[in-house]
Amino acid sequence: ILPIVAIVGRPNVGKSTLFNRLVGRRKAIVDDMPGVTRDRNYETVTRFDVPFILIDTGGFEPESSDRLLQQMREQSRLAMEEADVILFLMDGRAGLNPADVEVVEMLRRVDKPVFFVVNKVDGETLEVAASEFYSLGVDNLLTISAEHNRGVRDLMDEVVAAL
Ligand code: GDP
Ligand code: MG
Repeated sequence: ILPIVAIVGRPNVGKSTLFNRLVGRRKAIVDDMPGVTRDRNYETVTRFDVPFILIDTGGFEPESSDRLLQQMREQSRLAMEEADVILFLMDGRAGLNPADVEVVEMLRRVDKPVFFVVNKVDGETLEVAASEFYSLGVDNLLTISAEHNRGVRDLMDEVVAAL
């Protein structure tokens, strides 16, 4: 039985991009149309000689903020049940979203390692913009660019250590 790492977060934050980056090939559909990963993708990944199962959670693009929250609560609840480590992805370009704040409150109470990951931090200037995420006051906040493979190695170093 392998440990499970789940990637959760709002549509379009880059979950499938990170999943593909870690799987090493294009499996999950990444698209400019938000929320194209309808089903959940499972793949066995080995990093730093540690094998684990990676889950990419999908979801439709909700028509309202209420539905978005509902979807994210459900996604997070499933991840809390079945995952050993949770990666909660946010969008460093879009900035901090009220739905993110709510889910962070939910996840910070989880008795499992949770990494709060600000994605799309492609360069130094965005690193500065991402500073608003530090107002969340959580430990384990990391900035990455899944697309440009920035910070991903450091993230996985910590994830594997938490397994
Ligand atoms: P998901 O809905 O969370 O699975 O998001 P996707 O992986 O489908 O990505 C949504 C969009 O964000 C796509 O256009 C990606 O190319 C883009 N994206 C993902 N990661 C990055 C990143 O690190 N930097 C930038 N600039 N764009 C990204
Ligand atoms: Mg996706």
